Amino acid sequence: MFEGLRDKLSNAFKTLAGKGKITERNIEEAIQIVKTSLLAADVNYKVVKEFVEEIKKKALGEEVLKSLTPDQMFIKIVRDELIKLLGEKESFRLIHNPSYVMMVGLQGTGKTTSAAKIANYLKKQGKHPILVAADTYRPAAIDQLETLGKKINVPVITGDRKNALKIVEEAMKQVKDSGYDVVILDTAGRLHIDDEMMNELEKIKDMVNPDEILLTVDAMAGQDAVNSGKVFNERLDVSGFVVTKLDGDSRGGVILTIRYITGKPIKFVGVGEKIDDFDEFYPDRMANRILGLGDVLSLIEKVERELDQEKMQKMGEKFMRAEFTLDDFREQIKEIKKLGMDKILEALPGAPEVDLNTSEKELKKVEAIINSMTPEERNNPSIINASRKKRIANGSGTTVQDINKLLKSYEEMKKLMKMMKKGRMPFGLKGLKF
Ligand code: GDP
Ligand code: MG
Repeated sequence: MFEGLRDKLSNAFKTLAGKGKITERNIEEAIQIVKTSLLAADVNYKVVKEFVEEIKKKALGEEVLKSLTPDQMFIKIVRDELIKLLGEKESFRLIHNPSYVMMVGLQGTGKTTSAAKIANYLKKQGKHPILVAADTYRPAAIDQLETLGKKINVPVITGDRKNALKIVEEAMKQVKDSGYDVVILDTAGRLHIDDEMMNELEKIKDMVNPDEILLTVDAMAGQDAVNSGKVFNERLDVSGFVVTKLDGDSRGGVILTIRYITGKPIKFVGVGEKIDDFDEFYPDRMANRILGLGDVLSLIEKVERELDQEKMQKMGEKFMRAEFTLDDFREQIKEIKKLGMDKILEALPGAPEVDLNTSEKELKKVEAIINSMTPEERNNPSIINASRKKRIANGSGTTVQDINKLLKSYEEMKKLMKMMKKGRMPFGLKGLKF
């Protein structure tokens, strides 16, 4: 989604770095980039127009915060506005016991798959969900749900397999006082909205009085999905959306538009065919993803909790240093371990794999190896050839493999540093407060 938007914006602002103020003239290009990107992502034209106007208003004459460059400031404004457009996070609300969750949506949008994903999600929270196969329109639909139910170990009620209303009625009887606390109904869709489908859904809704009516929409379907979402909502007053297939090459228009058009929140997103390819929807994280900031929000929170500002600053400066010797590397490993950041680095999107699984013992080994090197070798590891490796291994009581492993980690760390320098990592966004 929105490939390269962030880089383009940064480029547009390159000539401005340090000017300290955003003016009408110098944001024109950036505004245009945002507009083009949103339109290309299939965002509704009206939404784009309002969005862009809002950004312009906010950005104009805005004093650039001391710690930010103008492009970071602009990106921050875009980010805040995106979060507004995506809407507040709204949770999945189950009130009754048992509570009913109705899955509705056009054929192929992911109702059945999402029903199972939700059941699995609830199970993990210690709930006792049960599935109901009330899609009698497509013959294979009931079998499909049964198969999924087996996979996640959740029972599936199939009733007489013929009449959706009867199946639901049967299910209501079965779950009463059964200990199952959430009943998830899979219903029938159609290729296009039609009255027969809507009538059936309305009847089911009246029967079960659902706590949640979740409408699945396919992110790849673009504005068609938004339009059908609107009609479904008008008929059924849905409680929220599951936007599916966000893993595909969807252009993002659905996710950015549907709340604005319908007023209803996105509650979950489907990001693949597997049961676990499923997430609660977090507007802030989605905005980061759209802007190519990576899903770093929770990481940044963690960093901020664990590091005080000063330490962070020092660390950032080290990472930014042009030269990075093996001595620096050794210090770096120590510091990262001390701050418990190895896990954080591992979780960063796109980060090269730096082997930081260094136990105390291994850390000693690293120190021994580096101590056995000449200052020249430490400053310029590329001169370490085979015979030097042998000498170092002998001197440090290690093996040539150990030396190779260390040199490889060092190279990876250098790569990581470069990425941070380019601003693709949280430290590159030094001062950009989320
Ligand atoms: P239904 O007709 O609305 O019940 O849709 P299904 O649940 O049968 O899903 C239709 C197809 O979309 C199936 O092949 C699913 O595996 C696939 N699908 C559902 N959700 C996702 C998703 O989030 N990502 C991807 N890639 N495929 C999905
Ligand atoms: Mg289905």
